Amino acid sequence: MKTDLRGLTYTEIENLLVDMGEAKFRAKQLYPAIFKVDSLDEVTTLSKDLRARLSENFYIGNLETESKQQSKDGTVKFLFKLHDGNFIESVFMKYHHGNTLCVSSQVGCLMGCKFCASTIGGKVRDLSSAEIMEQIIAAQRDTGERVSNIVMMGIGEPLDNFSNVMKFLEIVNHPDTLNIGLRHISLSTCGIVPKIYELAERNLPITLSVSLHAPFNDMRSNIMPVNKKYPLDTLVTAMYDYIKKTNRRISIEYALIQGKNDTPECANELVRLFKNGLFHINLIPVNNVRERDYKKTTSDATKDFCERLNKRGLNATVRRELGADIDAACGQLRRKKQENISK
Ligand code: SAH
Repeated sequence: MKTDLRGLTYTEIENLLVDMGEAKFRAKQLYPAIFKVDSLDEVTTLSKDLRARLSENFYIGNLETESKQQSKDGTVKFLFKLHDGNFIESVFMKYHHGNTLCVSSQVGCLMGCKFCASTIGGKVRDLSSAEIMEQIIAAQRDTGERVSNIVMMGIGEPLDNFSNVMKFLEIVNHPDTLNIGLRHISLSTCGIVPKIYELAERNLPITLSVSLHAPFNDMRSNIMPVNKKYPLDTLVTAMYDYIKKTNRRISIEYALIQGKNDTPECANELVRLFKNGLFHINLIPVNNVRERDYKKTTSDATKDFCERLNKRGLNATVRRELGADIDAACGQLRRKKQENISK
């Protein structure tokens, strides 16, 4: 089994070169090249002999674009094929603050949220740090544009793939790779409490997003099974502790489902739980998923819900929907592809 160089840190590259009897400084030549070229043959700053020896155990991985959908608003949704035949999705979005790529962290997902297409069929496997990097490289190459922001909100639960995701953050942030600042990266979790504490210990300037979706235990357990293991009070405590440790505000994802979590009682409870200007609430109209029958809250009711929060001092905004004319909800392209294969 050869190792994909795009999943290695600078120190690991230095060490492997030293192990091969090479000088440490060769890493300065090799590392930036790994993220620019498609194969080791193209790393012409290194001798042919060294390239050949590297090729015995290492390679530069690339994702294959299986298909893509382009929206009128500039959003591009990619379905990438992995070397083992599995599929993942990434979404390229244009915002005024820069181009954002939503990346996947796993093939499928174990978390079982009732409204989410990515979890139907469970988790197949974790993505390697290289495969997370390669989503950005492939999207940049295809669009011809630079990605300046990353959101880990694609398929999978990033905190359920903790070590590969942490390594990805170290790699993507390095000046020789894509040099994307941690402040331009958001990581979204459904609320794996012990991992939130582990993340807090790393004290990274990323933005942590918590997918809350319901402010009451019974309601949350009903749509998000993870809540049975880590109930709301433990999650909310972890969120306050995270802020204390990192000094970073937390963003809360709240997908409005008609007649379920969009009531005035829910808004009032959100206000009670999250105070002090430490949080920002992102209200998202729930996306229709063919396999699920949740309806989105109307836009008027969404505005009312948002105003109710704002009036009571809770910072909330309604997220602009991008790519509404393509399969925007996560996991949908992969689901369709799987269905077509099994037909
Ligand atoms: N597992 C992580 C990240 C992936 S999901 C998490 O749970 O946060 C990214 C975001 O999309 C989450 O907030 C998730 O709850 C939300 N989401 C999933 N399905 C959705 C749907 N049908 N409509 C709206 N948001 C959805």
